[in-house]
Amino acid sequence: MPPKKPASAKKKNTAGARSAGRQHTAGKAKSTPSSTRPASKKTPSRKTTRANKPSRAKETAARKAVIATALKMSTTGLSPGRSGNVSCRWGDGMLITPTGMAYEELKPADVVFVDGDGSFSRKGRKPSSEWRFHLAALHARPDMGAIIHTHSLHATVLACAHKPIPAFHYMIAVAGGIDIPIIPYAPFGTEELAELVAKGLVQRSALLMANHGQIALGKDLTSALELAEEVEVLAEQYYKVLTLGKPKLLGSDAMSDVLERFKGYGQNAQSK
Ligand SMILES: [Zn+2]
Repeated sequence: MPPKKPASAKKKNTAGARSAGRQHTAGKAKSTPSSTRPASKKTPSRKTTRANKPSRAKETAARKAVIATALKMSTTGLSPGRSGNVSCRWGDGMLITPTGMAYEELKPADVVFVDGDGSFSRKGRKPSSEWRFHLAALHARPDMGAIIHTHSLHATVLACAHKPIPAFHYMIAVAGGIDIPIIPYAPFGTEELAELVAKGLVQRSALLMANHGQIALGKDLTSALELAEEVEVLAEQYYKVLTLGKPKLLGSDAMSDVLERFKGYGQNAQSK
């Protein structure tokens, strides 16, 4: 099929990966000028101003989409015990599922806006305890717009065994490389975990998180959820292949060929 060009990262009004220790200059998107508030050394200015804040109707639609995605994640069994969380890029920050609420009870107003500098209103719901790594991931990947994090069964089994998923199947390329790597353990909710996630996601669109679960990126919520589902399928397949003995892995030439074929047309394929 003819490859579609992935959206250019240049279009996004996104600044640097603060949590990944990288600092960028704020983007210069035409319709979304960045704030002129002076930036401190540690916290670059990322406040969403009236000028770059999308309309209320669009925001409500985006909040509903976050809820619908969380519900789908739950009903498909991808997030046992409501373990997962969902976010999408919004203005200079993100919209993310709140902490401690059943997805079935969520109303659009319960979805939390976290600004690009990590600030959020103290009046409304609190964001998921994992908001730091969601925000760090969005900063690290300006070409991506949504994040799914789950403790899906087989991905978590492999993550707890500290087993990355190698090229046992060509579809591993959906995560943008020759494997789905695993990042070291760090406690949930910490800046340390956010930094590990952001660093890992520079090279891949999905990762296993040691003793924790998985994270998947997409240009939008639908593609992020699809990738999370694909990671879970690959994890289950790999787990089963391991029970038969040592898997026969695809070599680097075969995977380079697959990655070349994936480039450009998959929503989650690497664009560089
Ligand atoms: Zn988690």
